[in-house]
Amino acid sequence: MVSGGKKKVEFQGQRSKRCEVCDRTLVVQRLARGCLVHRCPLCGHVVRDVRLCPAGARDQVYGGSEKFDRFRLFFTRRKLLQLLPQLAKPESLHVLEVGFGDGQLLRSFQRRNHQVYGVEVSQPQGLQVDQLRYLGAHLYYEGLERADLPKERLDLIYMIHVVEHLEDPLRCFRKLFAAARKGALIYLVTPNGRSAGLRIFGESWWHLEDPTHLRFFTPQSICTCLQKAGFSPMRVSAPLLDSITLEVNSLVRLFHRRGAVMDHVLVRTLDLLLVPTALLSRLLWRDIRPSMEILARRE
Ligand SMILES: [Zn+2]
Repeated sequence: MVSGGKKKVEFQGQRSKRCEVCDRTLVVQRLARGCLVHRCPLCGHVVRDVRLCPAGARDQVYGGSEKFDRFRLFFTRRKLLQLLPQLAKPESLHVLEVGFGDGQLLRSFQRRNHQVYGVEVSQPQGLQVDQLRYLGAHLYYEGLERADLPKERLDLIYMIHVVEHLEDPLRCFRKLFAAARKGALIYLVTPNGRSAGLRIFGESWWHLEDPTHLRFFTPQSICTCLQKAGFSPMRVSAPLLDSITLEVNSLVRLFHRRGAVMDHVLVRTLDLLLVPTALLSRLLWRDIRPSMEILARRE
């Protein structure tokens, strides 16, 4: 359990850290012995430095399961397609995915005859990426911070579990705002720093297993950040099914906290067995849901 104790940041020789969203001085929150994060007293934004909060993080960035990822892909695609009628010309769109991975989701827009754009931090391989490129997708491989995006052209931008990894999210949102045309939508999914799961599981919360998770936005901090970039937030909600094995993985991490827990076949079996119970807890107690989805518009 998390102690919940907070105190002003006073590390020896270290200047006070300020909130990257609202510029308040951050306070330290102790998740466990030897595991500290910084939290903004105003917007609740959580900043994670892996040196202060190692939390048994795995070495590699990816620690999920491709089977469970297919599940996420199905629901994400459905949600995105449901957004299209809100756009001016839903039959012919310019669509950007930041963090397009193996390209499956972006390909599904390309198959529907939309012009697609993708940003990644390195050049991914695979059939879908080859098809994307061959069929005229605009792909950028040097990360969002350095991508030379077109101006005022995009109708739909989406980032699924990306903003928690960015070097400078506000700068990135400003760049996306400049690339969006009037009326464009931006849809994000990211861990929720206000989730009761972080309080309950502390350093065992599965989102801390990824060493490149640099921050956890809260509903307030993500809306402030988007507004500062120019976007108008429309809706923040807590999806029921995102990161569906998170509670079970976090439980396992309470007892075994080194590296990637989903690498173990036993854990994956446990996930399948206990996911219904975890889902029931999310239905009965919304605050424990680990992620949030955000929809905003360029007015
Ligand atoms: Zn703040």
